[in-house]
Amino acid sequence: MQSTIAAAFFVIGSMVAAPAWAWDFPGHRIVGAVADLILLQHYPTAQQRVSELLDKQNGGTIERRTLSQVAVFPDCAKRGNVPFCGRPPSDEEKAYAERNPHHDKFHFADVPLQQPSYVASSAGTDDTDVVQMIAYAVAQLRGKNPPAKPQVNLTDTEALWLLAHLVGDIHQPLHVGAKYFDKTCETSIDPNIGGTPPSFGIGESVAMTMGGNLILLATAPPSVPPAANLHLYWDGTAVLRAMQAAGSAHSEQDFAKLLAATSPPGWETAGAPETWSAQWASEIMPLAVEAHGRLTIRKGSKPSPFPLTGGCTWDTMLEPSYEDWAKAQARTQLAKAGFRLAVLLKAIFQP
Ligand SMILES: [Zn+2]
Repeated sequence: MQSTIAAAFFVIGSMVAAPAWAWDFPGHRIVGAVADLILLQHYPTAQQRVSELLDKQNGGTIERRTLSQVAVFPDCAKRGNVPFCGRPPSDEEKAYAERNPHHDKFHFADVPLQQPSYVASSAGTDDTDVVQMIAYAVAQLRGKNPPAKPQVNLTDTEALWLLAHLVGDIHQPLHVGAKYFDKTCETSIDPNIGGTPPSFGIGESVAMTMGGNLILLATAPPSVPPAANLHLYWDGTAVLRAMQAAGSAHSEQDFAKLLAATSPPGWETAGAPETWSAQWASEIMPLAVEAHGRLTIRKGSKPSPFPLTGGCTWDTMLEPSYEDWAKAQARTQLAKAGFRLAVLLKAIFQP
């Protein structure tokens, strides 16, 4: 079931029109750059270990790589992502993809909006979802030999660049929370309730929005929507708007410096680092709820391109007030992700 969802995600990712600056690449680079800055300034031992893992032998020379640079590798490893990545997959990314055939599902969970928190093994979660894969990579890098997962096999370098990426993804509300409908596509439901789990995701009693990928953005002609769908809006447009609002629309590094200068309220996480991803997923659920609740989402006229999602797409329009709210949220989430990535790496490499 989950691989079906993941496969559908992949197809959606490659069928939507790609804006020139591509979907989430700026967001991931910014999160990595914030963490790079914080490590450099405050945690030299961890920074040294990170550098050693990321250094690449290039003939007789060593190519130095930053978290900001490697944070996009897990997306560049996806099939069909050349237009987004700006280059074909590297040998390193191909090797990772071959050893981890379901890597495209590592990036998200689809926790129903009615659920107050992330609960493993409930509807919309998976053994290789974003929460589980962050915990797995953390345990591996801490030398704790996490329980083996089928068809998951990471080198330590890959575990590090996967963390740099996934800590970004888990701070995007639509990468964690998802709206579901019943088969009429008009009534929102929680697939954990009402005996639907056996058919969850196969389109019999549940219609999936796929993290907002099937919630299409509409607008009054002749204007064009700010993104093709609600998921992509949060991945990319909201980030770009946050950069513009800060006066650093053309410099991810400037924006990262701005974010790294002030720690966002409530960014610290308690407990063992392996538990942080589940806490972050639970924390973001109210934001995912609000990201949908501020909108009027109606069953659309276009059918879903995927038979296994329940058949529907939905339409919504973003008011200027929504976009103002979303860009402020995006800025806070990027900052939180950057600070948390840095301190997670500190906890791993400089305990
Ligand atoms: Zn991702």
